[in-house]
Amino acid sequence: MIVATTREELAKARQDLSGRVAVVPTMGALHAGHVSLLKAARSGADHVIMTLFVNPLQFGPNEDLATYPRTWARDLAIAEAEGVDVIFAPAEAEMYPNGAPAVRIDPGPLGGILEGASRPGFFHGVLTVVLKLLHLTRPDAAFFGEKDYQQLTLVRAMVRDLDLGVDIVGVPTVREPDGLALSSRNTYLSAEQRVTALALSRALAAAAAVGGQGAAAARAAAGEVFEGTPGASLDYVVVTDPDLGPAPEQGPARMLIAARVGTTRLIDNAALRL
Ligand code: AMP
Repeated sequence: MIVATTREELAKARQDLSGRVAVVPTMGALHAGHVSLLKAARSGADHVIMTLFVNPLQFGPNEDLATYPRTWARDLAIAEAEGVDVIFAPAEAEMYPNGAPAVRIDPGPLGGILEGASRPGFFHGVLTVVLKLLHLTRPDAAFFGEKDYQQLTLVRAMVRDLDLGVDIVGVPTVREPDGLALSSRNTYLSAEQRVTALALSRALAAAAAVGGQGAAAARAAAGEVFEGTPGASLDYVVVTDPDLGPAPEQGPARMLIAARVGTTRLIDNAALRL
């Protein structure tokens, strides 16, 4: 496995990869969710590049950029075990040599709702770094988790609208046995808060159980779970169509939830049939 920390080293390593190349962008602090992406990439391509970069552009001024977990040595060992060919792990000055970029990707209207409404500028930062990483790694396919469903949707839209010519593959969310979606930010939770955080996956299950009664019933069922869970404060719970448009009367849909447990903000989502 080659560890490239500069764009030049990456370009050299990339030249030696032939056949179908997949990229898995991450911010490190790898868990079983990331491993699932790496395995999917491994089986869908001849070579896998994993990027490891905590992107300052997508953190708000009061967010957790400074405390975001960094487990570099462990991440490298996991990547190696999963058959990653090249890791690209640039420092901030390597990724943004001219400082924070003045030119950024506008995510459009879908970037202003849900996570974009709660975290202004978030998707500008996400799409800008994803575009740079796609240019630098020149993959045939890029793998993203459904855990960040709005991000996956917006990356697909960017690739389509800007003719990037990269296959975007969505990978199902990996959960703990009790339903909690794996997240690097789960490490912020105390044992008690971790139990409280189950409200998100329980709300999604409660909504799915009544999906046949329509979107309002699904939202109400999810809301009830939060009313019965002191310590979890709901930011939003919405039902959309699978592309984040308005919920259909019936058929395939998506429920997305964001909630705060203590100071930790958590998101989750699941497919739903109305
Ligand atoms: P992050 O390091 O948090 O930026 O995540 C890197 C990639 O892993 C993103 O595409 C995420 O959607 C994906 N990911 C994060 N958590 C999970 C999970 N529990 N299951 C599947 N994919 C995940």
